[in-house]
Amino acid sequence: MNPMIGSLSIGKKLIPKHYGFEMKISRKYNSPNFEVRKGNLLPNKVIIHYTGMKSTKSAFQRLCSQQSKVSSHYLINRDGKIWQLVDEEMSSWHAGESSWLNEKNLNDSSIGVELCNPGHEFGYMNFSEKQMLSLEWLLKRIMDKYKISPESILGHSDVSPARKKDPGEKFKWERLAKKGLSIWPTEIEELPKVYDKQALIYKSLESIGYDVKNHVEESIIAFKRHFIPFALESFLLEGELKILTSVANYYNKIRRIS
Ligand SMILES: [Zn+2]
Repeated sequence: MNPMIGSLSIGKKLIPKHYGFEMKISRKYNSPNFEVRKGNLLPNKVIIHYTGMKSTKSAFQRLCSQQSKVSSHYLINRDGKIWQLVDEEMSSWHAGESSWLNEKNLNDSSIGVELCNPGHEFGYMNFSEKQMLSLEWLLKRIMDKYKISPESILGHSDVSPARKKDPGEKFKWERLAKKGLSIWPTEIEELPKVYDKQALIYKSLESIGYDVKNHVEESIIAFKRHFIPFALESFLLEGELKILTSVANYYNKIRRIS
């Protein structure tokens, strides 16, 4: 067992072991790339990214350079260290052109978290255990503070499917869901007896939140990157279609409750 995620059993009580490092947030670096949230919105979603840079140093340079015009609220390196680069009250420039549930330009309503990873361009790696533990700690904090629910924890590729692949198919959404930090269907349901395949795909993706109106194929791939990460083609086999409709039904059910 990984000692960082193990537990000590004292009597019947399970006491989580220390993470192995202190959870704290560094404010050593600041990015100039932010603005006031339009409409003074409070954040109601979190968008997870990978940096797609060869090193943490180059990620800092890019996220804190005025010329790059990009930033994020948080950056987490592979050792699990967390830096805050922009105040949460401000809109940081992490999502760019984006859409979810017909809402556009999500910078104004979201918090952006970057995970150091070279990404698909420079050698995509598994996210480290420490990085995931820090992300989970940070997500819990943000979700509690702004009452953000698990269905509003998204990947960049979910909201910008035609432009982005991050955080990518190696990101463990199911792990987050088990901790109440994202959505994962609890059971796979049967398909209706009679259905129009294309219409069912369209309706399901749209009801989850994807910008299927403008990007059908890219939305299918983004969905698969998130929920069927071992098969990234832009078509859906019958079993995959069942996963899609189950996810859509699950989102609809959760949204009806919340
Ligand atoms: Zn991104």
